[in-house]
Amino acid sequence: MKILLFGKNGQVGWELQRSLMPLGEVVALDRSSQEYCGDLANLTGIAQTVRAVAPDVIINAAAYTAVDQAEAERGLAYRINVEAPAVLAQEARHINAWLVHYSTDYVFDGSGDQPWSESDLPSPLNVYGQTKLQGEEAIRSAGCRHLIFRTSWVYAARGNNFAKTMLRLARERDQLTVIDDQMGAPTGADLLADATAHAVLMAWKRPEVAGLYHLAADGEVSWYGYARFILDFAREHACAIKVQSDAILPVASRAFATAAKRPLNSRLKTEKFRRTFGLNVPQWQPGVARMLTEVLEK
Ligand code: NDP
Repeated sequence: MKILLFGKNGQVGWELQRSLMPLGEVVALDRSSQEYCGDLANLTGIAQTVRAVAPDVIINAAAYTAVDQAEAERGLAYRINVEAPAVLAQEARHINAWLVHYSTDYVFDGSGDQPWSESDLPSPLNVYGQTKLQGEEAIRSAGCRHLIFRTSWVYAARGNNFAKTMLRLARERDQLTVIDDQMGAPTGADLLADATAHAVLMAWKRPEVAGLYHLAADGEVSWYGYARFILDFAREHACAIKVQSDAILPVASRAFATAAKRPLNSRLKTEKFRRTFGLNVPQWQPGVARMLTEVLEK
């Protein structure tokens, strides 16, 4: 199997470089790759890359992920999250390749308190969520064989994420305020990459599994609960942090002014993924503990 990976140095892309290796030949690109164009802003360039590499599977781990900045950079977010996946999907269709793509819980408006299923109606609250949803639609309408995985709250030892921000702030400050009314499941890039490799292999043998899936760790927590978990873990592992447990203060989203509005309910129902691919999704805590161990040892 020949696999073409875009976004090799993002959180998920980095882990995919590892997890895809047993599947065959992997051509992994980022935006500054030289031999082939890996810059999703260059639509002609990525189309030429697909034609030159002629892969069996294209995996797009690249995205415009700066949620607040997207409000001011709508055009660029649209180019990377909508037009580029559309081009990849059209090229995949021409050569009968699979396209694997990632999307987000931010396609939903966050109403209610039940986990969202794939058949629920999306209604994004911000530009990032809108462009990610349009990206999904572009892939579907191109008619290529595809897998789209909507996930949430991604973390990894490598890259920028909430967990690492909390560790940094807790070393610098005496007190932290953290949002307590947005609920979701922190999901490891390693879990996503391993699950992707498994799903690609299954899709190769059973093309009827093509479609949209929710894929996230099990369980739920607020950002506040997640921050408590991170900082309790760090304290127990002798990390020098200034913030005491009782100095992490829960606040409502409305107390935090951000450019982009975020959904309160980011819970994703993963039953379809688990049933189709015969995989378990673990509770969120063990993966976060593993990542923290790695980060704190550095
Ligand atoms: P990251 O932000 O860690 O990685 C995104 C990657 O995309 C970066 O390596 C970035 O490169 C690359 N990229 C951005 N613009 C371009 C471009 N023009 N050309 C090529 N590459 C580009 O994201 P994650 O790994 O966390 O996200 C993977 C997927 O999961 C994305 O589709 C995202 O929307 C989705 N997702 C992520 C969530 C999260 O919490 N992070 C939550 C839900 C879904 P560079 O570093 O050079 O900018």
